[in-house]
Amino acid sequence: ARTLRIGLIPGDGIGKEVIPAGRRVLEALPASLGLKFSFVDLQAGFETFEKTGAALPDKTVEVLKTECDGALFGAVSSPSKAVKGYSSPIVALRKKLDLYANVRPVKTVATDPKAIDMVIVRENTEDLYVKEERTFDSPDGRGKVAEAVKRISERASHRIAAMAGEIAQRRQNVRAAGGASVHAAPMVTITHKSNVLSQTDGLFRATARAALEDPRFRGVAIDEQIVDSMVYKLFRQPEFYDVIVAPNLYGDILSDGAAALVGSLGLVPSANVGEGFAIGEPCHGSAPDIMGQNIANPIATIRSTALMLEFLNEEQAAAKIYAAVDANLEEGKYLSPDLGGKAKTEEVIEDILRRL
Ligand code: NAD
Ligand code: MN
Repeated sequence: ARTLRIGLIPGDGIGKEVIPAGRRVLEALPASLGLKFSFVDLQAGFETFEKTGAALPDKTVEVLKTECDGALFGAVSSPSKAVKGYSSPIVALRKKLDLYANVRPVKTVATDPKAIDMVIVRENTEDLYVKEERTFDSPDGRGKVAEAVKRISERASHRIAAMAGEIAQRRQNVRAAGGASVHAAPMVTITHKSNVLSQTDGLFRATARAALEDPRFRGVAIDEQIVDSMVYKLFRQPEFYDVIVAPNLYGDILSDGAAALVGSLGLVPSANVGEGFAIGEPCHGSAPDIMGQNIANPIATIRSTALMLEFLNEEQAAAKIYAAVDANLEEGKYLSPDLGGKAKTEEVIEDILRRL
């Protein structure tokens, strides 16, 4: 049997209520899959910062790097006003572990009248998020001027597009194996604004296209769209999209927007992926308005757990978890309040565990 060591980083607020769901789902997987898990509890977040002075203690990074195959990250609270010395631990983790892709599937279940099944693959290391900003007094009467660097590299654009291509192929294999789908054939949509930003987005577009034209992606259709009209189409015709690849900023915005299409933030998973390492992370935050009430929806975390397994090449185990979640949602007997139900976090978890 393969043993995977998983770091558990609950963070703040409802992170502490939903991360245990990920662990319990992994422990409940059938032995026939030949998988074993061991866990290590790790600290990060605002509470950790207040206690120790570091939002992301070195030990957390060290243990992830040296001991773990993957991790689950809950959520962290960010103070509304800047606090000296505090910065987001998940952003730092992505950098330190070179988790260059943020992958976010957005999917409805069979009983939903909308048939949405897309994955957004966002480049995670560059673009405007290199945070090279400066402010200066203009010499010509415009007052202060602030500007930021938008950096796009061939290497990062190529590897993110290749990952999108691989995901498109993998999804096609799952469909071929009998999963119902709204898509007949795999397709990757390249997101850009190269009509205006001909050099930066132009490089992203050309590099992504070249990466996807590689013979190993034969059969994956290449589509490309300009980001603003793409948003229109994403809302009008979400069933059109299969896999979307985007530079960091557009990917950030598109993925939050797409999450709105499926009802609740409590449903949407993500994974931060690098070479041979993945961190599953629900898309929601620490939800201070509902913490401590045992009503947080654990599904975003449970799906993030499955997504992490996909990137650790345990697709069968992942498929089992997705199916159990879909069955829970389709039956609709144990739904948390964000979905209009009355079930407590614990009851949703138990219903999903029964179905594994
Ligand atoms: P949020 O995602 O925490 O909550 C938004 C709304 O969705 C709230 O009404 C909340 O109750 C609801 N919600 C979120 N997750 C839910 C779940 N699993 N089940 C049921 N309902 C759920 O966003 P926010 O309120 O804007 O931010 C709260 C805190 O979280 C802030 O400190 C913010 O900085 C932080 N945050 C962290 C992350 C992250 O860690 N990745 C992401 C977004 C926000
Ligand atoms: Mn975001």
